[in-house]
Amino acid sequence: MRVVVVGAGPGGLTLAHGLRRAGVDVVVYERDGASGRRQGISLHVDERGASALRSCLPPAHVAMVEATGGGPRERTLTLSEVDGVLKVVGEQPTDGRAGRALPGRQVHRPLLRAVLLTGLEDVVRFGAEFTRFEQRADGTVGVWFADGGRDTADVLVGADGIGSAVRRQYLPHVRVVDTGQRMLMGATPLRALVGTGLPELVGDSPARVRARGTMVVLGVLRFTEPPAAARERWLPALRRGAVAGVEDYVMWALPVARERLGSPDSVWRRAREQAVDLPPVLRLVVDEAWPDVTVELRMGVIPPTPAWPAGPVTVVGDAVHSARGFGGNLAMRDAHRLCEALVEAHRGRLGLLDAIGRYEDSLRRTGFAPGAAEVDR
Ligand SMILES: Cc1cc2nc3c(=O)[nH]c(=O)nc-3n(C[C@H](O)[C@H](O)[C@H](O)COP(=O)(O)OP(=O)(O)OC[C@H]3O[C@@H](n4cnc5c(N)ncnc54)[C@H](O)[C@@H]3O)c2cc1C
Repeated sequence: MRVVVVGAGPGGLTLAHGLRRAGVDVVVYERDGASGRRQGISLHVDERGASALRSCLPPAHVAMVEATGGGPRERTLTLSEVDGVLKVVGEQPTDGRAGRALPGRQVHRPLLRAVLLTGLEDVVRFGAEFTRFEQRADGTVGVWFADGGRDTADVLVGADGIGSAVRRQYLPHVRVVDTGQRMLMGATPLRALVGTGLPELVGDSPARVRARGTMVVLGVLRFTEPPAAARERWLPALRRGAVAGVEDYVMWALPVARERLGSPDSVWRRAREQAVDLPPVLRLVVDEAWPDVTVELRMGVIPPTPAWPAGPVTVVGDAVHSARGFGGNLAMRDAHRLCEALVEAHRGRLGLLDAIGRYEDSLRRTGFAPGAAEVDR
């Protein structure tokens, strides 16, 4: 069985690892170059994502991810200004209820990507933009790329994010709705905040700060084990550059309405404009951020999609559902479920379309969570 995956995000790469370990012929085509585009700095990985990684990745990869995650996150804090000082004014358990996050740990997104790419060097083709597919009478799928390349698959998987070109052709009725929300997101080294008390106040918990009419989301990532040392210990095959200079930081996100975005200047400057009225410590967070990791993301939603008959084309992750704050976990969980189903088919225990149908049923039962994901640019 040959599986062609479009997209080297968390979903596509988790799937590729799982299939490869089971002996399935898999190839991943990725539009971007090897360094990828800036997609935000960290991910809250909960048990859904972590258990998918444990199931699909080789043990050394899992050990590397676990060694470099932040501390356990079991509650979400609310901070506000009290007499001019930022204080914790409330907290909620991260118990997954009422749209709340599940317990998990913060991981450094570029590092997770590099770990996921390790060992797949001969499987991932960069700079390959999928353009279209064709279902053939013999059950196979022809796949075409912008550079004129082509491939033939028994299964084509769209893991190509919310703007998915695979989904646009396969499920053209699915709509992506732009919420009008924009997210300015960046990261600031903890060393720039020494003496402010902010990292200590937040601890390992995600925090929402409401101050002076603005909301800021914060998350401090203190690597449990320094990434360079963890690489030596757990995954020496990991590209050395993936851990070079990686240090503890605070991730921040400023949700902003489209109309409130200022001049089309550098994204970091826009963030500084938005932060100008914030309390001094939050202004410092934005002022001292790494300009080149500051990104602006457009947020979109995919309304739940009516069932479709199973075929040799399917979709995982943001390509088929959106979930702000936990879409990466759902993408990895989808990848694990699809992997299990395809391996059953590969071993002759299930027909191929039954396997894909089984995966898609599970997607419909638990995957269509409400929320917003980044809109593809
Ligand atoms: C601000 C923000 C914060 C977030 N925080 C979290 C969090 O803490 N925890 C969490 O679980 N999730 C979080 N998410 C969501 C998470 O980032 C996504 O849900 C996740 O990346 C989806 O993974 P994916 O593999 O489905 O798609 P993507 O990560 O979008 O990957 C898709 C890949 O496909 C490639 N591609 C696209 N089109 C083509 C094409 N035509 N041909 C070839 N390749 C193509 C893209 O270049 C990309 O590499 C956050 C999202 C945002 C916007």
